[in-house]
Amino acid sequence: DYCEIECVFIMVDQILNGWFSEIQNELWPGQAFSLKLSRVLHEEKSKYQDIKVLDTATYGTCLVLDGIIQCTTRDEFSYQEMISFLPLNSHPAPKKVLIVGGGDGGVAREVSKHPLVEEIHQVEIDERVVELSKEFLPNMACGFKNPKVKLTIGDGFKYMKEHTNEFDVIITDSSDPVGPAESLFQESYYELMKNALRPGGIVCSQGGSFWLNCAYVKKTMDGCKKHFTKVSYAHTSIPSYPCGHIGFVIGCLDSNTNFKTSLHNYSEAELENMKLKYYTRNIHSAAFSLPRWVELFLSNE
Ligand code: SAM
Repeated sequence: DYCEIECVFIMVDQILNGWFSEIQNELWPGQAFSLKLSRVLHEEKSKYQDIKVLDTATYGTCLVLDGIIQCTTRDEFSYQEMISFLPLNSHPAPKKVLIVGGGDGGVAREVSKHPLVEEIHQVEIDERVVELSKEFLPNMACGFKNPKVKLTIGDGFKYMKEHTNEFDVIITDSSDPVGPAESLFQESYYELMKNALRPGGIVCSQGGSFWLNCAYVKKTMDGCKKHFTKVSYAHTSIPSYPCGHIGFVIGCLDSNTNFKTSLHNYSEAELENMKLKYYTRNIHSAAFSLPRWVELFLSNE
């Protein structure tokens, strides 16, 4: 089969002349991000996916799942802080939080910092991602050490079916919608999340980049709008994701929620103490401001 041969060829070719290139696929047609390698620290095929841990020349340690970069130690804080603090600070009392995916531990690390969060439940499908992150990405996996965090190894979609009326905030830090994360991008997943929330609850998911595929962002938001009272899109810059950019789809059950203004404000000393490097009150509001063409595209019926 030609397709299969081509696919294998691309996988084999991912590391060439000391450079790692992200797998070419339909999510970012016609482009491929590359990083200069120092060495490959680890490679294996887990039950769910191909896992690589790379030591790169300028981006620190990099985790790659099924050929796609998940995080690098140079810029991960942009994504982890924003996917955590945008929903947490849009909720007046985010006491009980669920994280789906997030096997590197970075989102658990950030959510643990929030002074009002009492319990953090996390469901990650692949135990090997957690174990390898503890070994190679200790500054992210430290999130699992926090006593508030209770980690379950299992499928997030299945977990969501088994929990109702339980969480104030649900953060889906999944890989891209190919492989084990496919179900976490389906419309029915939004319905399950809605049922797993307590009244006034908020969900936030990795929502793709408008530069890569604005139609896809719109489709995700439209799916979310069928189940949530208000839905918005926020974005952040992060050089190691395709186009250097990633977005978040955020939805709430309470029509009084105003995503654009943080409800919890931290002094400079608190920001320092929480080791926040990207997130500020101004960044929170700015993340919801969109270029004109994106606003027009997303508001089009
Ligand atoms: N920040 C990253 C990004 O957007 O590229 C994602 C990081 S995190 C490593 C993604 C995690 O989601 C992976 O560890 C993967 O195993 C997990 N995952 C994928 N599908 C899942 C599912 N159905 N249930 C729970 N976890 C899942």
